[in-house]
Amino acid sequence: MDKISVIVPCFNEEDVLPLFYKEVTHVLESIENIDYEILFINDGSHDHSEDILKLLAHKNPHCFYYSFSRNFGKEAAMYAGLENASGDYVVIMDADLQHPPYLLKEMYNSLKYEEYDCCAGKRIDRTGEGKLRNFLSHSFYKVIQKLTKMDMDDGAGDFRMMTRQMVNAILELKEYNRYMKGLFSFVGFNTKWLEFHNVERPVGKSKWNFASLFSYAFKGIFSFSSTPITIAGVIGGILIGISCIVSLYSVFVHPVSYLTSLVLFLSGLQLIFVSILGQYCSSCYFETKQRPIYIIKNTNNIHKKMG
Ligand code: UDP
Ligand code: MG
Repeated sequence: MDKISVIVPCFNEEDVLPLFYKEVTHVLESIENIDYEILFINDGSHDHSEDILKLLAHKNPHCFYYSFSRNFGKEAAMYAGLENASGDYVVIMDADLQHPPYLLKEMYNSLKYEEYDCCAGKRIDRTGEGKLRNFLSHSFYKVIQKLTKMDMDDGAGDFRMMTRQMVNAILELKEYNRYMKGLFSFVGFNTKWLEFHNVERPVGKSKWNFASLFSYAFKGIFSFSSTPITIAGVIGGILIGISCIVSLYSVFVHPVSYLTSLVLFLSGLQLIFVSILGQYCSSCYFETKQRPIYIIKNTNNIHKKMG
């Protein structure tokens, strides 16, 4: 009998967890001949999420919770879920029901009978999201696709079911600076896309603000591409060319007094490039420390892995 593991990162989701549990178990129990487990990764919630998870685990032996010692972020929560999942098929889902549970059945059938290694949900609109966030996300995915040459589509999130083989391949990637959308693309394998319309959260609000989204976007770029360093070099070269032309013009044609603004501009540019280099250095710095990606404080699963 196949076993499906459902991984659910949760950060302050007390309002939606009972509803999520009800809908997901309803779908899972309607799939014939499968066993399942639901792994709730409580990512340092400050609300009553853990109490609710304890109740669910008590009520249903298929449910497990893993509470982190603090908020480590969704990437760490997904990694903890993948490390602790024991299923033949593993799916990652948000707790807020924005990843429609009804797709689970089709995802399982695609992996089981159509020989795909991964079946991923793709959001085809962003109804209900702010216009600015919508525009910025769209632009980010365009930029990251160009910079990394990897298939990271707008709308393709972490909602996907994978075979054990693909999960093991992802677990081989132990880097500290994790960007899961990039890792899915890096390991390759055959992916089938299932389109769905954006669903608004029934309760609660998004845990991301503009600052965290920007930092996530930069993490994505710096973990998967060294093109920004190349761009920095090319622009530096062009600027040296321009400054040579300006100097020649100043000497031979007409004295130029743009000096102050030019100096300011160039020092600004240098700072930007120093910061780009700094980003790569800091990534290396954190990788070499080899700190655990997450720390589990509490769980009802005695066979846990610690991160
Ligand atoms: N999440 C998490 N840790 C965090 C932030 C979010 O585990 O630090 C979880 C959150 O509980 C939810 C999922 O990640 O299950 C997606 O978060 P959210 O709905 O806030 O993101 P959005 O849908 O706005 O992209
Ligand atoms: Mg959400």
